[in-house]
Amino acid sequence: VKVSFEVFPPKDGNISKLFDELRILKKYNPQLVSLTYGANGGTRDFSLELLRTILDLELNVMPHFTCMCSSKEIIEHYITQIENMGIENILALRGDKIDGDELCTVDFRYANELVDFIHQKTTLSIGVAGYPEGHIEAESLDMDIDNLKRKVDAGASAIFTQMFFDNNKFFEYVQRIRDAEIYLPVIPGILPVRSLNQMDKMISMARISVPKSLRTQLEQFPDDVKKIGTEFAINQCGELIDSGVCGIHFFTLNHSDQVCQVLDNI
Ligand code: FAD
Repeated sequence: VKVSFEVFPPKDGNISKLFDELRILKKYNPQLVSLTYGANGGTRDFSLELLRTILDLELNVMPHFTCMCSSKEIIEHYITQIENMGIENILALRGDKIDGDELCTVDFRYANELVDFIHQKTTLSIGVAGYPEGHIEAESLDMDIDNLKRKVDAGASAIFTQMFFDNNKFFEYVQRIRDAEIYLPVIPGILPVRSLNQMDKMISMARISVPKSLRTQLEQFPDDVKKIGTEFAINQCGELIDSGVCGIHFFTLNHSDQVCQVLDNI
């Protein structure tokens, strides 16, 4: 199965640690490494610097990009720079509301508008986000899938999902997507849990259910959280592979150790 790895720009600016981790992950021959993007565009220059260095490692890279707070001119400039660097993929997102309630809309309100723009202006292959349990702002999963369809019709070519811990949610989602006549690859997003607090923080602004058995184990054995998280991810990935998924996208949190253990055991 093909794998991809998501990393974020290190908050302390120390990129050498990140590159050590990427060098380790490179042995799994990833289809791509994706680099997250600050919702308000604050990390744009740093992102470009990081993208260049990831390319220097001879890894395929997929920058994430959000349209919040950005004008058409800024977006066009950025995507042109990316394309000129030889990058072929981009993950087109809207971005989260700032402080949870305000949408910072300039030219594009929703991701489908960004997808349309990138599709018109570049030849980049465009990934979009999908939410197996529905996006937090969506009134229903059906309405969220209508939105996904708009992103697909605007020119997306792959769907990367939000993390999930219940494979059945993913299987049902893919079925509903296919029923909606969306036939693009759907790449499941997997988080090997590293810390209970961090996991809770990541899922607090989203609709992501955590099976009771997993939560109980994590709470009961605080010293073994990484081990439990890794084992859970191994089982989750095994089942996904058996179901025939075309790839798995790992939220690495800039660490290679757990992802390596998962990949060595599936
Ligand atoms: P959209 O597709 O625009 O959807 C947003 C909401 O609006 C949904 O509820 C949708 O149903 C609704 N909607 C869309 N169109 C309409 C319409 N016409 N009318 C009414 N409602 C509508 N965020 C970052 O800031 N940086 C990152 O690097 C990043 N990486 C991510 C990677 C993955 C794999 C995923 C799953 C998410 C990532 N995010 C990232 C988070 C993402 O920005 C948020 O989830 C954001 O709130 C929604 O982005 P979107 O592109 O899915 O938005």
